[in-house]
Amino acid sequence: MDLGYGACRQLTLAGFGFERLRAGFITHLHSDHIADLGTLLLYGWYAGLCEVPRPVRLFGPGPRPSYRNGDTGELPGFTETLGRMLHAYATDIEDRIIDNARRPPEEVLDSTDIPLPDSLGFDPHTRVAPDMEPLPVYRDEHVEVSAVLVWHAPMAPAFAFRFDTAHGSVVFSGDTGPCANLVRLARGADVLVHEVIDEHWIQRGYGGATHPAAAAMLAHHTTAHTSIPDAGRIAAESGVHTLVLTHFVPGHNPQPRWHEAADTFHGRLVVGADLDRIPLH
Ligand SMILES: [Zn+2]
Repeated sequence: MDLGYGACRQLTLAGFGFERLRAGFITHLHSDHIADLGTLLLYGWYAGLCEVPRPVRLFGPGPRPSYRNGDTGELPGFTETLGRMLHAYATDIEDRIIDNARRPPEEVLDSTDIPLPDSLGFDPHTRVAPDMEPLPVYRDEHVEVSAVLVWHAPMAPAFAFRFDTAHGSVVFSGDTGPCANLVRLARGADVLVHEVIDEHWIQRGYGGATHPAAAAMLAHHTTAHTSIPDAGRIAAESGVHTLVLTHFVPGHNPQPRWHEAADTFHGRLVVGADLDRIPLH
């Protein structure tokens, strides 16, 4: 799930070799969710991906139009982003293919932009998260993965993912404001891993400021992310028995502040930490 800064190092510290990867899922293309894509492409490729018996499937959002004034072009989706990165690193890649007998990365990575049926009525500008049933994305003998669009405008498409296994179900919110699609996706799951921001901290930091950048940050955090009480409410409404908070804004908040999600959610609450192992039941 996602490749934010340090993700590949964490994967290694968690004891997973790159050669064990089967598939990866990218919620959206903000840098804090894909900054380690280059590490996967270069270090991961060199350190183990070359040994995968079949290509690693990677899934992410498709392209969207640019909204900047006067710019009518299309911004790259996940597959094009990956392709451009491989191009950027072409000198290293070619040397390692020639000099170290590595298989070309195109043979070990298989990227897909998650297709959105026209019937959804998705519009990256005006309807980023229309009401929808979960879309099937991937399955193998261990897991079925489904996705819904979530509210993280102007970033779109942005996805939440659900993983159903014989042992239980986990849902990852990705980055989102409160969103009915996410509640639908998480219904009946065992564990919901949900992003969270401290709404008091945001107000303290940006609430009184008049600078355009501060006003933009306030608007972004209050609509495109989820407050502590709302994260609890969403977990309660979904009926999950475990809520794992993650993606903390700010990262340095005192721990007790996050535990206030227990005011609106009465199941098991976990304030997530790096390399946690969280039982499904
Ligand atoms: Zn984001």
